[in-house]
Amino acid sequence: MNHIAVIGAGTMGNGIAHVFAMNGYAVNLIDVSSDALTKALATIDRNLDRMVAKGVINEQEKGETLGRINTMTAIADGVRDRDLIVEAATENPELKRKIFTEMDTHAPDQAILATNTSSISITWIASATKRPDQVIGMHFMNPVPVMKLVEVIRGYATSSSVCDRIMDLSKRLGKIPVEVNDYPGFVSNRILMPMINEAIETLFEGVGGVEEIDQVMKLGMAHPMGPLQLADFIGLDVCLSILRVMHDGFGRPKYAPCPLLVNMVAAGKLGVKTGEGFYRYDRETKEKEVAPFFRK
Ligand code: NAD
Repeated sequence: MNHIAVIGAGTMGNGIAHVFAMNGYAVNLIDVSSDALTKALATIDRNLDRMVAKGVINEQEKGETLGRINTMTAIADGVRDRDLIVEAATENPELKRKIFTEMDTHAPDQAILATNTSSISITWIASATKRPDQVIGMHFMNPVPVMKLVEVIRGYATSSSVCDRIMDLSKRLGKIPVEVNDYPGFVSNRILMPMINEAIETLFEGVGGVEEIDQVMKLGMAHPMGPLQLADFIGLDVCLSILRVMHDGFGRPKYAPCPLLVNMVAAGKLGVKTGEGFYRYDRETKEKEVAPFFRK
């Protein structure tokens, strides 16, 4: 498995492409938006610079890593000769099925089709293809170059050999894979998203302010980042989509997204990627201050 394609070049796609390329894999990075591809390459360049400054890699390795990434806008061209395709496009169930149908049509018969979805059923995505045994969840964490976990999700039909190969590959990327079953939100978001949603409810009801809620969780529970800041990093649109998938999938009110989250997404305040969510972020330095809407 040497030739990889990554579909979607947003927050996660650029990190996934970075990690594969740094470990010697040839990567086709595909996005419908050429602007997203330009931004992704700039982000990868910046993150590699940081690794050079820390002595993790040298300038030559940085150049070789960038040299292994090709960008393109058409799925049909990008997946044709690939062994593994990792889909990391927008968290939208219908969009993912459409992309998987297209991947299935154009990828080689033996290729494994993986999705980085945070919550959507692998089994359901796989049913859009003629190779459900070769479809699997490969859920990287944000930021991908830093975080060790890959949550590997077996769909109803995923074969053991495909699962073994993805577990092995994750280790070769320097990650620690953990295998789980295919239910909404899997393990990671089943536990994380209700906490983030509850933090937003706590803000919505005026129990605490943005900084107070984050401080309580950082100082009191030893979380490296408060839940509201973490939501900004994940993307509030992504959080909302995950909660909706869990709410639909389980039919339990405890997963219903807080109306404040719904409003923020409607207002286009999506967190770090748009420059404002619960905090406002300086474009250059990423320094943060509480967003004007939440100031006392
Ligand atoms: P994002 O919004 O930052 O990026 C999504 C990208 O997909 C955009 O660049 C968009 O142009 C592209 N896209 C949309 N339709 C496409 C298509 N038809 N073909 C190709 N590209 C297309 O989203 P993200 O945060 O990177 O999330 C991507 C996936 O990763 C989602 O499934 C999400 O649930 C999952 N995920 C996100 C995080 C996180 O912290 N953000 C963590 C783990 C997993």
